[in-house]
Amino acid sequence: MVINEEMYALGSVRSAIRELFEYGKKRAEVVGKENVYDFSIGNPSIPAPQCVNDTIRELVTEYDSVMLHGYTSAQGDVETRKAIADYLNNTYDTSFDSDDFYITMGAAASLSLCFHALTSSKDDEFIAIAPYFPEYKVFVNSAGASLRVVKADTEHFQIDFEELESLIGEHTKGVIINSPNNPSGTVYSEETIKKLAKLLEDKEKEYGNPIFIICDEPYREIVYDGVQVPYVTRYYNNTLVCYSYSKSLSLPGERIGFVLVPKEAYESRKLYAAVAGAGRALGYVCAPSLFQKMIARCVGATGDIEAYRENRDILYKGLTDIGYHCFKPDGAFYMFVQALEEDADAFCERAKEQDVLVVSANGFGCPGWVRVSYCVDKDMIKRSMPAFRKIYESYKEDK
Ligand code: PLP
Repeated sequence: MVINEEMYALGSVRSAIRELFEYGKKRAEVVGKENVYDFSIGNPSIPAPQCVNDTIRELVTEYDSVMLHGYTSAQGDVETRKAIADYLNNTYDTSFDSDDFYITMGAAASLSLCFHALTSSKDDEFIAIAPYFPEYKVFVNSAGASLRVVKADTEHFQIDFEELESLIGEHTKGVIINSPNNPSGTVYSEETIKKLAKLLEDKEKEYGNPIFIICDEPYREIVYDGVQVPYVTRYYNNTLVCYSYSKSLSLPGERIGFVLVPKEAYESRKLYAAVAGAGRALGYVCAPSLFQKMIARCVGATGDIEAYRENRDILYKGLTDIGYHCFKPDGAFYMFVQALEEDADAFCERAKEQDVLVVSANGFGCPGWVRVSYCVDKDMIKRSMPAFRKIYESYKEDK
């Protein structure tokens, strides 16, 4: 075999979300952009905060160009890491320092580094909680481990602890949590985090191995109505945080984020070195220098989260008034809606007939539900309501 079949398989099929997004663009050429209601993709719809572009302009003027665009150290500029540590310490009353951070090209890279750094045997397992970001399986498998999935709690979208406990065993390396969550928009409560910490501490004792929580946090700041997102390192020592500025600063194409390895974690400095080693093995070299330097000055800034809240409220009210059963999200920019038939794929196909593009949650491990991304133009949400109504009524006619 000349070509790696697994890589070929990954590279030759587009994700269902990308497929739908491309379909939307083609369909817009036929029926007009304003008549396609594309809720498929999670691309932030609000501009980056003013600080981002202002700082980039300042940096380009202030810095010597060779310095500005040169390689940085693999773990990232110390000024950037220090600014992040200071910001988190002030915000969450933690005590990190710059050496705890490894700057990456976004959450996808951060997750890959963590899975590579932790996987030491082909028997190793990571556990995800449905509904979950489908790329976890790709990243975990490429590190040589396997992914197991806890079925969704479709009432509150917290964690089904009974099921989680039944999946933890001697091979469990870590549990991946993503709060605020893509695709459900749920935020794990402090009670959930405490319960998770207690369960994992008990299981660590039972099996005599550390079990890590891997926090995937690209949506941390995107929350509504004052909801708090507990900072997990405060509840559990063996926590790794995978953060990204893709969503909070509306910069998904620029690729910047970090891995946080707190000093309290098991063999913390060895683990940090393994994260760096994974970066080296994967050829990541360093995160983009210009954006590292921008983060050092803009850490803590966000786009206009209120705009997403407004979109959430318009969408939630519109869909529930029609009769859809929706989970009201506390964070991120996705609404989880129950499909009107058991087969969510078939529901999405029927929605497509009305030019409504929503994503089946089969791929997120939560059959029977669909994801509606509301990081879109507010007017499109309003314009789409008659189409959502037509879909709803077509199911009533079936009965
Ligand atoms: N994790 C989740 C839950 C996401 O939704 C995304 C992107 O949509 C990522 C990770 C990857 O984010 P990044 O752009 O930072 O790689």
